[in-house]
Amino acid sequence: MSWENNVRKVVPYTPGEQPKSQEKIIKLNTNECPYPPAPGVKKLLEAESYEDLRLYPAPDAAALVDVLAEYYGVGSDQVFVGVGSDDVISMAFLTFFNSDKPILFPDITYSFYPVWSDVYKIPYKKVAIDADFRINADDYKQENGGIIIPNPNAPTGVLEDLSLIEDIVKSNPDSIVMIDEAYIDFAEEGTSALSLVSKYDNLLVIRTFSKSRAMAGLRIGFAIGNAKLIKFLNDVKYSVNSYTMNRPSLELGTEAVKDDKYFRQTLAKIVNTRERMKKELSALGFSFPDSKSNFIFASHATVPAEDIFKYLRGKNIYVRYFKQERIDNYLRITVGTDEEADALIGALKDFVSK
Ligand code: PMP
Repeated sequence: MSWENNVRKVVPYTPGEQPKSQEKIIKLNTNECPYPPAPGVKKLLEAESYEDLRLYPAPDAAALVDVLAEYYGVGSDQVFVGVGSDDVISMAFLTFFNSDKPILFPDITYSFYPVWSDVYKIPYKKVAIDADFRINADDYKQENGGIIIPNPNAPTGVLEDLSLIEDIVKSNPDSIVMIDEAYIDFAEEGTSALSLVSKYDNLLVIRTFSKSRAMAGLRIGFAIGNAKLIKFLNDVKYSVNSYTMNRPSLELGTEAVKDDKYFRQTLAKIVNTRERMKKELSALGFSFPDSKSNFIFASHATVPAEDIFKYLRGKNIYVRYFKQERIDNYLRITVGTDEEADALIGALKDFVSK
């Protein structure tokens, strides 16, 4: 018992299943992009310098920071990069959520938020979203030590209007408000809170290369905010690990941002398939909140979600099921290629219409 009393004990986050076998699996469970990264990334990967791996990467990750600053029209001192947005959010929790007051986030949301709160001993309060999975801005006008909201929300896929986000940011000048925009590239233009970062010094917008840029395997995420916020974040990063970003990530991530045409083509394909999947799922008796992300959060009129989950698993089609209050009759289905969508719908037809 002795040393165990001193252990920082946590209940870890459970990531979606990654298949171990080489069997052909239709993987619609972790919101990855079904298409490869930009072709320039492939070329660079093949030319990747093996010899350079003996050298440390640039601690300030300048090449990637600069290309992102240019792409989003902000200063390089307004961009922070990390090992996936999980690393960025974790650093941001450690940096900005340092009060005795509870931080606020939706009750149905990314299940990593309570885990980071626990590991860093940050008090938190879950704020209930309504029966239609919508956020009410007034619920966030109470005393708090910070706020984090994903927009679109996960696992619901629901996008809140920018005016609601602005209302929350504006009403909380004494707290940092983080908007986790992991899925915003799949929504229409003009929906991102990035347009507000020059107006509010308490807003931090977090993005990832894992979904829309098809680079989950490289682990790249970033945050954009005012220069003072980014300086505070970097101070904490340099106090934990100076070299978070490895050399290949810096080079390949920078290359990916340069190919905007390919990026937009990929997004358009996914959005098309998403809209098609919505129609076909509806026809099969599923209902879902309207998704602006690369997944659909669907519930069937008569067949329990857990049964469908197990049935699909048996057919080597992986989707995500959360055995959690309020959402235990829903499946989160990632939008795949058209062929993957056909296979999913085909399998569902056999099961739910029996
Ligand atoms: N935020 C949300 C809402 C997510 O769903 C995910 C994906 N699990 C992440 C952040 C983290 O993604 P990554 O670390 O791959 O950037």
